[in-house]
Amino acid sequence: SAAVGKRLAPGDIPAWLTVREGARLEVRDVRKSFGGLTVLDGLDLTVEPGSITGLIGPNGSGKTTLFNLIDGATKPDGGQILLDGRRIETADRWARSRAGLGRTHQITRLFPKLSVLRNVVAGSDGTWAAPAITGAQAARGVELLELVGLSDYRDLPAGELSYGQQKLVELIQILMLQPRLVLLDEPAGGINPTQIEQMGALIRELNRTGTTFLIVEHNMPFVLGICDTVHVLAGGRRIASGTPQEVRSDPLVLDAYLTGASQ
Ligand code: ADP
Repeated sequence: SAAVGKRLAPGDIPAWLTVREGARLEVRDVRKSFGGLTVLDGLDLTVEPGSITGLIGPNGSGKTTLFNLIDGATKPDGGQILLDGRRIETADRWARSRAGLGRTHQITRLFPKLSVLRNVVAGSDGTWAAPAITGAQAARGVELLELVGLSDYRDLPAGELSYGQQKLVELIQILMLQPRLVLLDEPAGGINPTQIEQMGALIRELNRTGTTFLIVEHNMPFVLGICDTVHVLAGGRRIASGTPQEVRSDPLVLDAYLTGASQ
């Protein structure tokens, strides 16, 4: 089908997308509670520039909450979040986006009635208000859609695409902003094997050009296969960090998952 497209190869990533260097993220002693529930209890972690870093942990361990704090959807109760050494935890979401932060969501947030291409350029003017498509933006958008075999669908309403296609479009939407750090919330969840492969190839090739990734993912073969570093959250803290191999054989990690699963 047209959706499969050609395989991504080094050099396929357009040069205009790779002009910015990958960013470094530091989370220092971050705290967040909802009512009486402490979700993040003094969380420290670092995402090295140019890495593909995974964030795993049982359901409810605070992974999505951390993403919300990093991208500015929510404010922390305490602690610091630094992008390349600059504190961003009180900056608004647009300032974070201009600083190079991009994020996809577990449930995609496309405008379902607007065309795929219009969605792709939606963030380009900093408003996310689906601006008119200009020639230059359209050309860039189509270029990126071609990478994942979706350029033939540019004029279709985004809501008519499959869930997996929408996830790929959401990633392309944030790539239009030339991000330096991309947060991916379950990029491989609920999508088919071909789309998982496309998602993985796109992440790998973007990372080869320097882009930093932080990935929350329940698909363990995917996340352990693609990440160079993994942080494990449990009980509002980081309980382990290391290479996928180190984390996989860590008894603390297995224990956290078993305990989490029984709650
Ligand atoms: P994960 O992504 O690791 O599954 P979450 O960050 O989604 O974990 O959730 C951590 C905990 O925080 C859960 O118990 C969840 O119910 C709670 N939580 C998250 N957001 C809110 C909110 N806005 N109001 C109240 N509780 C919340």
